Amino acid sequence: MLNKTNMKRIFLSPPHMSGYEQKYINEAFETNWIAPLGPNVDAFEKEIAEYVRANDAVAVSSGTAAIHLALSLLDVKKGDLVFCSSLTFVASANPIIYQRAEPVFIDSEPDTWNMSPQALERAFHDAINEGRLPKAIIVVNLYGQSAKMDEILSICNHYHVPIIEDAAESLGSTYKGKPSGTFGRFGIFSFNGNKIITTSGGGMLISNDTVALKRARFLATQARDPAPHYQHSSIGFNYRMSNILAGIGRAQLEVLNGRVEARRFVFERYYKELSHFPGFYLMSELENTRSNRWLTALIINEAEAGVSAGDVLKALEIENIEARPVWKPLHLQPIFQGARYYQHSESESISEQLFKNGICLPSGSNLKEEDQLKVINCIKDVINNSSKERDVIHI
Ligand SMILES: *Cc1c(COP(=O)(O)O)cnc(C)c1O
Repeated sequence: MLNKTNMKRIFLSPPHMSGYEQKYINEAFETNWIAPLGPNVDAFEKEIAEYVRANDAVAVSSGTAAIHLALSLLDVKKGDLVFCSSLTFVASANPIIYQRAEPVFIDSEPDTWNMSPQALERAFHDAINEGRLPKAIIVVNLYGQSAKMDEILSICNHYHVPIIEDAAESLGSTYKGKPSGTFGRFGIFSFNGNKIITTSGGGMLISNDTVALKRARFLATQARDPAPHYQHSSIGFNYRMSNILAGIGRAQLEVLNGRVEARRFVFERYYKELSHFPGFYLMSELENTRSNRWLTALIINEAEAGVSAGDVLKALEIENIEARPVWKPLHLQPIFQGARYYQHSESESISEQLFKNGICLPSGSNLKEEDQLKVINCIKDVINNSSKERDVIHI
């Protein structure tokens, strides 16, 4: 912990401005569009919809709000079941609770770390037997890697249950050439400060169902009935994105493709330097998919590597480098205690293994080469020191 205070911290995924943001912000000020609506909001929605080739998009205050709206549009309410990936950020599932519905968590499979089709199939099987199908499925694309969408879609289509694709981390990724976020009835993106592009805070709900998104705009602006006085016959939200923040988003979207390239390059360098060590497995990329590599994630098999994920995290923290364990599975979270969980197979809970052994490394598109080398060298030191210690023990 010696020089921690005078060492510059290397962050996991800091914001990366393009330099064009100010132009849009100034426009908003000059025209006095300082509100949760305006020309930047309209244009940002149009530009995102075009980018992912969806019919429409609704800009909102966060990715969480977008998930909440999607659940509302699907009429998820008290007593309904919603299946959700377990290995994800808590925001994927909190809106299920906002709607007083019941989450059922689905394990990951080892190839993509995302929703296991075989666990999903078992969950459906039980739901059918109990005469209680879920109202919706929330599928997450972890760290930019798309889930096995063909398999998941085929199961959900068979049971006629709609998918909400939580693409908060995977904007700019593709699955078989099709943009991430466009596989379900609804898709959501996040523009939180740590995501691949940011509006400081914000989100987007996308869909080909333009009628549903028209209702989303209505719900997101307090559900005002078309009357000159303030009249409400539904409960709405105050979820729209500010015109200033949408301006930031427009400038960020202009450089999204470059940001994907930069993050993929960061991954490549980690891969080149670390993947040859025994027990180090960097998250792979499913065939026919292209990940935005939002975060470089890897598993450290302690028995093979001689060091644990915890050892590496500790060493990085001493060097003032921000690294994190992979998400703690939601079925292990105190707030979801008692929720049902379907693991990948009878003997294997993949998300728990990934949580135990997985870490995410600094992956910003603005990560300097020298800083990344510092991260890499720190990890190499941990490995070398541990093998020296083992040699001593063997002597
Ligand atoms: C960031 C994130 C969200 C939430 O987005 P916010 O904009 O922070 O509300 C939801 N799901 C996943 C998987 C995320 O990583």
